[in-house]
Amino acid sequence: MKAVILNSYEKRAVDVRTAEIQNQCTILCNQLSNSSYLDGITSEVIKSELVQLSNIYNGRVMVIANDFRIAEDTYDMDKGKTIVSEDVIQCFQGKGTSNYDAKNKYIEVTSPILDGNTEDVTGVMLVSVSTDTIVDSLAVLDGKASIVGITIGVVILVLASLAGVVMVKPFQRITRSISAVTEGYDDNYLHENAYTETQLISDAFNKMLGRMRVLDDSRNEFVSNVSHELKTPLTSMKVLADSLLSQEDVPAELYKEFMGDLSEEIERENKIINDLLSLVKMDKTANTLNIKSENMNTLVEKILKRLRPIAATRNIEVVFESFRPVTAEVDEMKLSLAISNLVENAIKYNKDDGWIHVSLNADHKYCYIEVADSGIGIPEESAEHIFERFYRVDKSHSREIGGTGLGLAIARSAVLMHRGAIKVYSQLGEGTTFTIRIPLTYVS
Ligand code: ADP
Repeated sequence: MKAVILNSYEKRAVDVRTAEIQNQCTILCNQLSNSSYLDGITSEVIKSELVQLSNIYNGRVMVIANDFRIAEDTYDMDKGKTIVSEDVIQCFQGKGTSNYDAKNKYIEVTSPILDGNTEDVTGVMLVSVSTDTIVDSLAVLDGKASIVGITIGVVILVLASLAGVVMVKPFQRITRSISAVTEGYDDNYLHENAYTETQLISDAFNKMLGRMRVLDDSRNEFVSNVSHELKTPLTSMKVLADSLLSQEDVPAELYKEFMGDLSEEIERENKIINDLLSLVKMDKTANTLNIKSENMNTLVEKILKRLRPIAATRNIEVVFESFRPVTAEVDEMKLSLAISNLVENAIKYNKDDGWIHVSLNADHKYCYIEVADSGIGIPEESAEHIFERFYRVDKSHSREIGGTGLGLAIARSAVLMHRGAIKVYSQLGEGTTFTIRIPLTYVS
């Protein structure tokens, strides 16, 4: 700004000064045109006017005759000498000139002296004026502009610092609140609505906090469920053992019977622990997946071969329907566990002499496995819960047939790890169908 102002001031001052001098020149030239200055006889009046002009503007005035001889010089230095300069020649052609020499700080103006009658150029008036006064004004202006500039700079700095302190306050409050929540001192949600940004941060943080609390609750619930499930067989064992100890002369048959029951409870405890371990393995990150290209037909056949004898004990018919050979990129162990759990459930919750249909199909993208049974079915209100850990529709029945409530949770985890989906359709008393959809190629 300073440079722009100073430059325009300089230009304007020079223009004004030039115009003034040109004016004066024109007036003097008019007076000269009537006198016989060319003969060196300039009237005293005009002479004093020339001197006055040079004094006022702190400059030099020369009158040049048409033979380029200097007829008058207010400095009295070059009178009688010849001057041939571009400006003078141009002026003799009838056109006055004006130049500003910024480096040497002077303005030079030429003005033609016209003959009163013929309008011919009879001479040239050359005026050189120093611009020292303009330069001095510029220096003063420059100093003032610098002071104003520095003052404005300081004011802006102070204001910016103040504004900065005020503006970051809400963010500092957010940081303090987050720290308080992180350290567990504060159970509240964030409410920092000073700016839209802080509001968005608060909302995002509250969402995350909500999710963390849900996770925390579900972890607590899981731990309490696990403890409860593990405690039940232990309680039975303690009751059995205590009742044996409290009696005297217990017959050997009773010992045998009670020991058999104890062994069953131990077996059950073992099964729960094994299922829990499988579930924990499923919960680990996907890098633990051992993905290979597998023939799905063989994979399903293998599972059914192992489970058919168990189904046969209740005269349940197991049918495998394979629509086409399917190869998919899967972790054989984990997916087998999922399918086994579904088929085992289909056996466990089936009626005697019932049937199980397992089908395998695929399109260009997915592989579909369906396990349908003619069993007892699932009540509609329970259908959305059966994939939860330890959820059982009929707790006592499930326990009787050796269920832990973890089978479907394991199956769901395994399917989700493969980026697949698992769904259930059931009709109470008619049967249940589970469908699994797995992408043919695994994308991590
Ligand atoms: P469980 O070890 O008790 O079988 P799951 O997680 O495998 O545990 O199953 C959860 C519950 O879902 C079971 O207790 C049962 O009530 C119900 N369920 C699972 N599969 C079937 C099925 N094929 N038919 C009827 N009910 C089923």
